[in-house]
Amino acid sequence: MAIRKIVEIGDDKLRKVCKPVEKFDKRLKALLDDMADTMYKAEGVGLAGPQVGILRRVAVIDVGEGLFKLVNPVIVETEGEQTGLEGCLSVPGRRGEVTRPNIVTVQYQDENGEPVTLRTSEFFARAVCHELDHLDGVLYIDKMNREISDEEYEEMMEEDEEYDEEDDQ
Ligand code: ZN
Repeated sequence: MAIRKIVEIGDDKLRKVCKPVEKFDKRLKALLDDMADTMYKAEGVGLAGPQVGILRRVAVIDVGEGLFKLVNPVIVETEGEQTGLEGCLSVPGRRGEVTRPNIVTVQYQDENGEPVTLRTSEFFARAVCHELDHLDGVLYIDKMNREISDEEYEEMMEEDEEYDEEDDQ
């Protein structure tokens, strides 16, 4: 296991459409472990392949409900809407308000290639949408309603309970 370098905005790798994973081998397991280590070290809640320079359809997510390793994930159903704050480990120092579905059902393969169906809601659903966008070269700043300044963010944290604390993905 190792900490990998996080690719930041301006690097073309963040703008590519990733290819599916075909081989479920030791290398894939090592990549997913490295991605989890890298995410935890950076105190993020999600990390996608392109963020460590790997253009494959892989992501790791941990929003406090345990570590999920998603290979070849596809959103198969969404319900409702939520608007909240997002940040991104590849877009340091910024945050924005983004509208996402409130409930997201995702199908993916685990690190052994076994199919999994997972129903997520609220912040977990937001993280799934954010990470899957990375696999298609999309960043949250492309779809945010507006950017949130440091000052506004601090005020929100003091005054408005409806916003979650900032968690980069
Ligand atoms: Zn991100």
